[in-house]
This record gives sequence, C-alpha cells and structure tokens, in this order.
Amino acid sequence: AAMPTIPAISEHLGETLATIHRDAVARPVQGRLADYIPALAVVVPSQCGIAVATLDGEVAAAGDAETAFSIQSISKVFSLVLSMQRMGASLWSRVGMEPSGQPFNSIVQLEWEHGIPRNPFINAGAILVADTLVAHFSASRPAFLGFLRKLSGNERLMVNEEVLASESLHGSRNAALAHLMKSFGNLEAEVGQVLDHYFFQCSVEMNCTDLARSLLFLANRGTQPSSGEVVCSQRDAHRVNAILSTSGMYDQSGQFAFSVGLPAKSGVGGGIVAIVPGYGVIAAWSPPLNAHGNSSTALWMITRLAGKLGLSIY
Ligand code: GLN
Repeated sequence: AAMPTIPAISEHLGETLATIHRDAVARPVQGRLADYIPALAVVVPSQCGIAVATLDGEVAAAGDAETAFSIQSISKVFSLVLSMQRMGASLWSRVGMEPSGQPFNSIVQLEWEHGIPRNPFINAGAILVADTLVAHFSASRPAFLGFLRKLSGNERLMVNEEVLASESLHGSRNAALAHLMKSFGNLEAEVGQVLDHYFFQCSVEMNCTDLARSLLFLANRGTQPSSGEVVCSQRDAHRVNAILSTSGMYDQSGQFAFSVGLPAKSGVGGGIVAIVPGYGVIAAWSPPLNAHGNSSTALWMITRLAGKLGLSIY
C-alpha cells in the first residue's frame, strides 16, 4: 500500500522553522540544566536550534542547528538499533517493552521485575543494551561511533572527553542499576566495561542536522534514503518507533503522545528527536530541562511544529 503522503510542506518549511525558533527564544527560559553531570551544567543555556530532514534529502534548519551538543539518551535509539541487528529476538527476553511511568533513572521497578528493565530507553534498559554491545563487539565503543558516523555521513563526530569523565565520576546511580542487573544474572559483561560503553555513547556530540539525517531510516521503514542502506528491517523500524512512542520521553511519554503524537527521544543534553514516518525527522535542542528531564524549549518547538503541520501519527 502507498504511504500516506503529507501535503507538500517543505516549500515554506525554512520559514516555519525560523518563526518557531524566533518565538521560542523570545519566551522566558524555563527549566534547569542537568547538573547531576557537572560538565553539562556549564553549557550556555540560551542556545536553541531546530532542524528537519526529509526523506527526499532536504534539510531545513533554524537557530543553533549546527552546534554540536551532548546527545545523552538520544544515543539509546542508536544503541538499540545496533543491538537489534546483533541480537535478533533474544534481546526481548532481557529487556521489556512497557512504559515505566517512572523517572529515567529509577531503580525501584528493576528489583520488583527481577533485573529485567521495563524498556530500552530508561537508563536500566540502555545499560542492558550496552551490555549486549560489549558482549558482541570486540571493541564496542569504536563500533558505536562508526555506526553514528556512517548514519550521519559526518566522519568528524566525536565524544566529548570532559563530559565522559564527568559522567563516570558521577555515575553512581547508573552503577547501581548495572550492579542490580548483574546480581539478577541479566548482565553478561563486566559491570565496569558496560558502564564505560554506556557513558561513552551518552557523551557523543552531534548537532540537530546530524541527528535528523541519521535517524531518517526510522521514518523510512528501516532504509537510509540517501544511500539505500538497510539499517534494520521494516518490522524492527516499526518496533523501535512503537517503543519510542510509549517510552521515549520517559514519564512524559503519555503527554507527548497526546500533544504531539510522534515517536520521539529526549536526552539530558537538551536534545529531542521526533520521527515523522513517511516524511522525515525533526531534531530540536535547547539545554534547560523540565522536571521530567526533557528540554522545555525543544519540546515547545516540536509541539508547535507538529501542531502547525498536523504531524500526529494518531
Ligand atoms: N547519561 C545520562 C545518564 O545516564 C543520560 C540520561 C538522559 O539523557 N536522560 O544519566
């Protein structure tokens, strides 16, 4: 069956983004920087950018869309796809697919549920996914970075070493999650190695344009439109989008589905990506976070854009 087509919006997309960006930066700054990772607390809070990449190869952007920032939990989308490539169906016996309704770093459900994290996008789930990468690659960190470079077409993508060191130094909560899973027999590799990988993937820096381009395959049934590369099967692309819809915005996922209606993922660096199946990807960034750990201004811009263009998949 043909994909539903979204009416030609690209013509005025640049203007639309410029207007939304202008209105966004005119609002009083809402939220706070993620300060539990000290290196993230020193970022200039007024930065703000938005980019949209479409399946036909167009990119429209406004504001600081070319400024690289810490992708943080947005990395969990890439690591999940990489793990699904390696693990196949066996992954889903070790991590669930239910929304948690809890903050991203919550530990309580993990004990009740015997070390099986609720979904791959809360920290526990992403640490589990990191374990599968460490177990399957002889060098999981370069493999992960290579995957991102290939998807984005940007060979210069790097990790921010300062953020990486800061995450490791202040990662007690994540270490607790990893040790709890290890105690239940749900981690294969050494806890230290798993955390090293997890902190590494969170510390990669990308800009809005890179991010929007990299994730186009999720809007295109698993195939990267520019190269024709099959990143994952259509079924797996649907599955990733499904879990993004229910869990990508943590305990704000329900509200996001209600008000925006797109599969999306946030990170505490202030980035949010949203997949528009059959059309493209939106990436927005601004560092201050709301109480759920989601960027208030990125959320505001994506809500405006999705509302204006009628993008909800529901
Ligand atoms: N590196 C962060 C952490 O583990 C990622 C959290 C996030 O972006 N929500 O706490």
